[in-house]
Amino acid sequence: MVKLVINYDKCTGCGTCVETCPVNVYKIDEDKGKTKIVAINECLDCKACEVQCPEECIEVISED
Ligand code: SF4
Ligand code: SF4
Repeated sequence: MVKLVINYDKCTGCGTCVETCPVNVYKIDEDKGKTKIVAINECLDCKACEVQCPEECIEVISED
């Protein structure tokens, strides 16, 4: 199973991960102004979010 590690200190809540993820793993938490993982089980391990995040605060860790 894949693991997603977010550096919330760096996340600006820009929404790029929400727009990038093809299977809607992320949602913006409007109260906190940061991203939120809402559907980890859908993750395809494509790493698009990690590549596209402008703050480089997402790490996708592939696991067996
Ligand atoms: S793309 Fe990066 S900075 Fe933007 S909301 Fe997602 S995790 Fe936060
Ligand atoms: S690795 Fe791909 S499927 Fe998984 S959260 Fe990131 S963009 Fe979505």
